[in-house]
Amino acid sequence: MLMGYVDLHLHTTASDGVLSPSGVVRYAKAKGLQAIAITDHDTIEGCEEGLSEGERIGFEVIPGIEISADYSPGSMHILGFFLDIHHPLLNERLEYLQKARAERNPKMVARLNQLGIEVTYEEVLKVSGGGQVGRPHFANVLLEKKVVRSFQEAFDRFLKKGAPAYVDKFRFTSKEALHFINEAGGVAVLAHPNTLGVKGYSELEKVIVRLADEGLKGIEVYYPEHSAAEVAEYKTLADRYSLVSTGGTDYHGIDKNELDIGVGRGEMKLPYSIVEEIKAAQNRPLSER
Ligand code: AMP
Ligand code: ZN
Ligand code: FE
Ligand code: FE
Repeated sequence: MLMGYVDLHLHTTASDGVLSPSGVVRYAKAKGLQAIAITDHDTIEGCEEGLSEGERIGFEVIPGIEISADYSPGSMHILGFFLDIHHPLLNERLEYLQKARAERNPKMVARLNQLGIEVTYEEVLKVSGGGQVGRPHFANVLLEKKVVRSFQEAFDRFLKKGAPAYVDKFRFTSKEALHFINEAGGVAVLAHPNTLGVKGYSELEKVIVRLADEGLKGIEVYYPEHSAAEVAEYKTLADRYSLVSTGGTDYHGIDKNELDIGVGRGEMKLPYSIVEEIKAAQNRPLSER
């Protein structure tokens, strides 16, 4: 059992996870966790359902999000915790992202068709389970159709950045994303810094300082893909700039090498005190860093 532990990075069918928002909440409770955050890609559509299921069964659910920000060479994801999901600016920005995705997805179908792969958008919509459509759904269709032998092969051959069926999607800058997360009362946290493609402590430090000036309040220090050295580095940076150290598994429930909620590959143990630190950061004005 995971009494007293939390998982602050989870996906549901509202984006590219396999469990519904209420399913994820029930699963987390069954595993003995104390709280979770629902952090779907670019959408809060799963939060309402997750929150009411949490209320129904007596389990703490934090309404959150994971925004993909514009960044190179790697990718920058920004988590938002304790969002006011009815905030007008937040909803307006997210609707814009939904529109951009709706334009991108048929283009990816067309690319696959040009490569001689018979895929329809209807098939992709079907596996997406009614939520927002993303590349993992394309991967699952390719897998179902035996075009590829694994989920990862679908990304490596067709879907990853630079691959033949990849189509870029609109992204807000970090400044814009941090602004609307803060406006909606959220606590913004840099997700899995190891995907930024930044080499070395001092380069990462520059990025963190810039983000902190733009409204960042935390770093996702604990994450299944972080090495012990990375965890130590991110923790040092978080402490140095008075940022909260958060953590989560990024559980999707799909072909992620048996990664599980709350525990990752067995090594994660995130105490509830992280949630209390996030709550404290929520009430701290941005200038008082
Ligand atoms: P999308 O939101 O459509 O751009 O899809 C992003 C999701 O695709 C991420 O959350 C990952 O789950 C998955 N993904 C992105 N790149 C890769 C990759 N190289 N290998 C496996 N999965 C990936
Ligand atoms: Zn995902
Ligand atoms: Fe991410
Ligand atoms: Fe994620």
